Amino acid sequence: MVKTVALSQSVTQLKGVGAKVAERLEKLGITQIQDLLFHLPLRYQDRTRLLPIGSLRAQQEGLVEGTIRLSQIKMGRRRSLLCHIDDGTGSLILRFFHFSNSQLTQLAEGARVRCFGEARSGPSSLEMVHPEYQIIPVDKIVSVEAELTPIYPTTDGLHQLSFRKLIDQALACLDNDSLPELLSDSVRLHPVAHYSLVEALQFVHRPSPDVNVQQLLERQHPTQRRLAYEELLAQQISMRQVRATMQHHAAPELKGDSKQRQALLKALPFPLTNAQQRVVNEILADISQQVPMQRLVQGDVGSGKTVVAAMAVIEAVSAGYQAVMMAPTELLAEQHLQTFKLWLEPLGMTVGWCAGKQTAAQRREVLAALSTGDIRVAVGTHALFQDEVVFNNLGLVVIDEQHRFGVHQRLALRDKGRGSNSYPHQLVMTATPIPRTLAMTAYADLNVSVIDELPPGRTPVTTVVLPDARRGDIVERVHLACQEKRQVYWVCTLIEESEHLQCQAAEDAATELQEALPDLKVALVHGRMKSAEKELVMQTFKAGDIDLLVATTVIEVGVDVPNASLMIIENAERLGLAQLHQLRGRVGRGKVQSHCVLMYHSPLSKNGQARLRCLRDTNDGFVIAQRDLELRGPGELLGTRQTGLPQFRVANLETDQDLLEVMSEAADQFLHTTPDNAAALIHRWFGQKLELGQV
Ligand code: ADP
Ligand code: MG
Repeated sequence: MVKTVALSQSVTQLKGVGAKVAERLEKLGITQIQDLLFHLPLRYQDRTRLLPIGSLRAQQEGLVEGTIRLSQIKMGRRRSLLCHIDDGTGSLILRFFHFSNSQLTQLAEGARVRCFGEARSGPSSLEMVHPEYQIIPVDKIVSVEAELTPIYPTTDGLHQLSFRKLIDQALACLDNDSLPELLSDSVRLHPVAHYSLVEALQFVHRPSPDVNVQQLLERQHPTQRRLAYEELLAQQISMRQVRATMQHHAAPELKGDSKQRQALLKALPFPLTNAQQRVVNEILADISQQVPMQRLVQGDVGSGKTVVAAMAVIEAVSAGYQAVMMAPTELLAEQHLQTFKLWLEPLGMTVGWCAGKQTAAQRREVLAALSTGDIRVAVGTHALFQDEVVFNNLGLVVIDEQHRFGVHQRLALRDKGRGSNSYPHQLVMTATPIPRTLAMTAYADLNVSVIDELPPGRTPVTTVVLPDARRGDIVERVHLACQEKRQVYWVCTLIEESEHLQCQAAEDAATELQEALPDLKVALVHGRMKSAEKELVMQTFKAGDIDLLVATTVIEVGVDVPNASLMIIENAERLGLAQLHQLRGRVGRGKVQSHCVLMYHSPLSKNGQARLRCLRDTNDGFVIAQRDLELRGPGELLGTRQTGLPQFRVANLETDQDLLEVMSEAADQFLHTTPDNAAALIHRWFGQKLELGQV
């Protein structure tokens, strides 16, 4: 029993933990000794075997040993020490930018050196930059490490070595009494769940030397999967609690004037599809309750989510409340602003604009009108999150293209409308079709509606995949399309996440295309332009006064110009499937047959081929999402940082799909049989870091 106390004790009880270290540990969410045990290795380094240098590949991490053949100081842009080493199978350069005189003597020609690091391709050959190294005395046998080296996520001023020592101390306190199993038999719905927790923890922190290394590195070892099982369960249960807590809050009953909704429907040039009508009804039913709606609307690009949102907004405003529509990019927000003005102002609803690029005076005016309630509908970007934005009586928050925003942002905006104990209703819209198992994890706190029908009369986009060697033909094709009075997008992409370079590339492409096609009206839109400029270009394009619009991926989401029927995407191989699908969704919005050309730069990798082929073969967002998951993993699919998906310690949403399959049932079982264990389970895995629970 003594040990039970031990694990819940403060880390300051451990050797080597003073105030400073304790503070650093706290930053990592570690306060109790137990928290250390659940602070799992990010990965492992394999220093148990020497790799032949000749077998080393770029980006591979490993231990090598060789003789220094040449050691020289290169001046260049930065002075550096280069040591060429060789082990008979191949050679490698060690590069040091910082080095002392004693290192210069140590790393002399003829010395044997053993080093550990990541190989990168350098200007002339593979290199390791600042590897860890050790000089091996001649005629002496120095053994390699017996065990894999765990690498922990850590913070400044806390070294791996100190971390390992702390973990050792925590492991010494660990046994079946000190750390009880929280999963009863009825919760263990997957074979991996039958391993013991204690055994699993011991193993992942200190894997035995005979482990299948590959399996461990891929997080596929049964002990890792056992932990993943528990982690996913903890996550599932915490999300359910978030949802349950929300359900205890109050929200305004939004019962508006149905005539106002009818008025919009009459003004629209089209009737709603059945799917749109159904989803509108689901939303109206939700917001007429005194419990905050938490609903996600999923609908493929072009399925008509905007009008669904507008119906909800009208209901809220005609019930006497304010509503907010938020979009991830200024371009998209501007477009919503235009649409909402067109649709809502005839109904007497004032629509205001709130974005980053506004003058101070404009902003002051908007803020004032929001707080007095003179503006009934606010459209904008994340600028709506800021503290100084205060609403008069916010009743509904609509977040478009949710994959760009995290859960926390969602919660922040919701708090804006918080009255004494009342929250606004929330509607989240996304075109990212998420496979069912993932959706359960990502959105366990939301109800989901699906718009599973496209408006009638759309002709599916025909997609072709062509190498950029055919650029000339493609330009000719653009010319023909424009002569037929069709409009064209030309999208530039870039490997680097550098907006600047991407804009540069688009500028160059625009100049070049204008030269090649002097009789066409070519225009440019990219993220670095002022919003007024962007808006002008988009409106001119929409009005049909621009033939060819060269753009960066800023047009990825939401942009809607039905007469545009040809899209060229340069270097399509650089983008993810989901992003390409979004881009392609900009065409195929009108009656004419639309085309998309995916241009790639040869040679195309196997995976690249498979991805582009998938897009060529289908227009179905769900099929594409599933393929994307297989080809790239969920982090890529959802854009890890922006999804609001929790960062898991062991669970891997791609390879642990079989665990996700049973998670919903496991959570039911857990809450049914052992509800009192929920708090302990969540604490174990998320500790104090779970701000999510504070709703
Ligand atoms: P998304 O779901 O991608 O946000 P939008 O709301 O931008 O789609 O709608 C795409 C286009 O389809 C717009 O031009 C919109 O006016 C039009 N649209 C929406 N609903 C219908 C409908 N029921 N029938 C015909 N066109 C529609
Ligand atoms: Mg949209």
